[in-house]
Amino acid sequence: MNDCIFCKIIAGEIPSRKKYEDDEIVIFEDIEPKAKIHLLCVPKDHFAYLTELDERRSALLGKTFSKIASFAPSFGLEKGYRLIVNQGDDAGQTVKHLHIHMMGGQELPF
Ligand code: 5GP
Ligand code: ZN
Repeated sequence: MNDCIFCKIIAGEIPSRKKYEDDEIVIFEDIEPKAKIHLLCVPKDHFAYLTELDERRSALLGKTFSKIASFAPSFGLEKGYRLIVNQGDDAGQTVKHLHIHMMGGQELPF
């Protein structure tokens, strides 16, 4: 068992406020929100970087973005939202399990 915090959330070993889950992704609230609505969309497959994409993971990410677009309005993001994928140390990536920040619920000041 690895000690990845998002794998532990996916496995239900660490609690989270889940908004959506299926067999491929989970969407839950960020524990330290940086916007009025701040969700994390996490593919269940453990990998950290876009450089690790193969054909299967590329297809998974394509579906993930499509799901984000479908579900965003039901999360209160109907007026728009920002997606962020931090990659590596200069970006401040703290969790080395690829995730997509979904931020909105307000006019973003940055
Ligand atoms: P990163 O900087 O790696 O792109 O973003 C990691 C995000 O995960 C941060 O915004 C941080 O607040 C969030 N986070 C870290 N640990 C936990 C946790 O245990 N639960 C939840 N819900 N979010 C977390
Ligand atoms: Zn992981």
